[in-house]
Order: sequence, then C-alpha cells, then structure tokens
Amino acid sequence: MSPPRILLALTAALALGACKKDEVPEQEELGTFTTDTGGLTEDIPVDVSPDAQSVFIGCEWNDQSGDVATVWEIKKPDSSYFYVNQEWHPDAASAGNKPMRVGNHEEYLPILMPVSPQATLSQGAWSMRVWVATGGKKREVSCTKVERTAEVPSTALIDVAFVFVGIDGINAGNAEGNDAVQGLITSMGNIWADAGLGVGDVSYSDFGGDVNRFAVIDNDSTEPYDLYKTVPDDVGRTITIFLVQEITSGDGAIIEGVAAGPPGAATIGGTAKSGMIVAADSLADDASRVAQVAAHEGAHFLGLFHTTEKDGRANDPLSDTPACSGSDDANGDGRLAPSECGDGSNLMFWAPPADSANSLSDDQGWVLRRNPAAR
Ligand SMILES: [Zn+2]
Repeated sequence: MSPPRILLALTAALALGACKKDEVPEQEELGTFTTDTGGLTEDIPVDVSPDAQSVFIGCEWNDQSGDVATVWEIKKPDSSYFYVNQEWHPDAASAGNKPMRVGNHEEYLPILMPVSPQATLSQGAWSMRVWVATGGKKREVSCTKVERTAEVPSTALIDVAFVFVGIDGINAGNAEGNDAVQGLITSMGNIWADAGLGVGDVSYSDFGGDVNRFAVIDNDSTEPYDLYKTVPDDVGRTITIFLVQEITSGDGAIIEGVAAGPPGAATIGGTAKSGMIVAADSLADDASRVAQVAAHEGAHFLGLFHTTEKDGRANDPLSDTPACSGSDDANGDGRLAPSECGDGSNLMFWAPPADSANSLSDDQGWVLRRNPAAR
C-alpha cells in the first residue's frame, strides 16, 4: 500500500510549496533582551529553517534619544563567526572582514542576511548580539524576524506603493494617466531588469498626514524616519516610495533620494526604516533621472550597499562589483568621481551619473531577488 502514500505526500508537498510562494512571510518575535551597562546584549537566538533563502531582523530599543545601534557579532550554528563588528569587536582582526555588512543605525536596527552569495545561510541555531551605544545605560532591545522560505525565481517582482506628498499637479487620482509618472515606472523597471528584477503591482495614494511638514524633507532631522513610520503595518511585500518636492541638507548638497537602511525593513510597516523618499520636483522635466534615483534607493532598501562610498573607505560585500579606494581620489577632495572608479557605471556607485550608471552585477541581482519583499 506504499505507492499511494508516496503520491499523497508528494501532492501535499507541492501544495505547500505553491501556498508559501504567494504568502507574505510571517513576523516572529525573537524576544526582549536587556543590555549590560556597556549597551551589549546577551546572545539573541535566531533559528534558521532548512529552506530559508533570506532572513530580515529588525530591532528596537527603549529610551532612544541620541543612540546608535549596530550588530556586535553573528554566529552560525557551528559557533563560527558569520559577522564581526570590524570597528569595536576584540576578535575583529582574527575573524576578519566577512562578506556581510551592518550599518550604524538610529531608531531601528535593520539586519538582512545574506547580502552576498559568498556568505549564505545554513539551517540551525544561529545567534547574534546587538550593541546600543548607550552612554552607560542598560537598554531593553526587542527584535522581530522575517524569514523568506519561498524559492528565489530567476525574475522577481517588486510591488511598489507610491505616496505623493505635495507634488504639484500629480496625485493618486491622475497618476495612472500621467506620462511622467508612467515614464518613471517604466524606466525603473528597465534598470532593474538588468538584475532579474521587475516592477510588479503599482499603487498610488496621496499622503494622509501633514503635507506641509513633509513636502520638503530635512534630511538632517528625524523627518525621514517620521515619514517612514507612516507606512501601514500590513504593507506586506510592497515597498513604499514617498515622492516629495525636495530633500534638503545642512551642508547644501542636493539630495535626490534617501532610503531607509540599507536594508529597509522588509515586509514590516510602521518603523523608522519602512520606506524611501525620492525628490520629484524634476519629474516632469527628467523622468529618467528620477527613475534612476528611485531604482538606486529601491536597491538600497532591498539590501544593496554602495559599491564604493564617497571617500572610498568602504565597499559593498560583493566580489563581482568593481571597487574604488581613497587612493583613487586624484584631486584629494574626499569625493570619488565616477571617472576615477571602475564602478562609476554601476547603479550603486555612491553618486551614479545620470543615464550612464544603470548597470547591476549578477551578485547584486542575487541579493535583490532574495529579499523577503521580492516575489
Ligand atoms: Zn545611495
């Protein structure tokens, strides 16, 4: 009687697979952990399933004013290091710089694994320790995990929610028929196509909060975080792009876009890392540049770092993207130019020039398609 049983088992397995593919990954509370007076948590257990493709972990902590948090270390089930904080950890030199990166973050700490095909997940009991720069106070750190178990397709789709924040002449009611908005979406999809990524379902809404406060974003304030927090809890796999008039900064630099992270809070709304902002004041004149900015910020949200940072002191953890260093800065102004760098034509160069920097590598596509927000 065994053949029918085998058939039944196969049917059940297939049905389960089909079901998982269409579902938003579940959020799992990892618990609340008290730091020592130096701001360091104990080991936070993180179970990784056999079929996990990627894991996003977001952590918040109490009484935050002025704090910056990051990851101290991440250990694999065999207790070897997956990641060690290179700036502060006593084992930094012996463990070495792993193909994994975590930034220093205010308000909400976003962690995505893996961010390189050179450091993938394995099933079992992982652990990590979070460090909050506290100034001698104990803190309560609470973390939530989202695990993507659905297989990664060769072409993945990203659903996008555009939120209009005081854009002249463009709103949710007319966006569908607006050439600039539609041009933006088409160009963004064309750029992402290089990485096996496409724009899926698109929705439009008008910002329901204080438009006067958020139409011009002060990037040196908490305004980006406060705007991201308006992303609804049930955002699912949709990524949210706020189109505002302008993004300003105290040093006078022109900022065309900013993203939470990297990475953004995948499938988790309502946090200080739940969205991205694109300045759309030039949308009618140059939709392709705004699309390039949106594609760049979207890629940050989905887990990509700059191939080279402005001063060349950091690079992404990918082996197939060219990298530039400070010694390439010929005129020594602390700002690497695209012409000085082999990665000046990559979409994720720190300042990608218009039209000529739309390329993405295989490894970048591998990371993008694997995000829990991709389907
Ligand atoms: Zn960037």
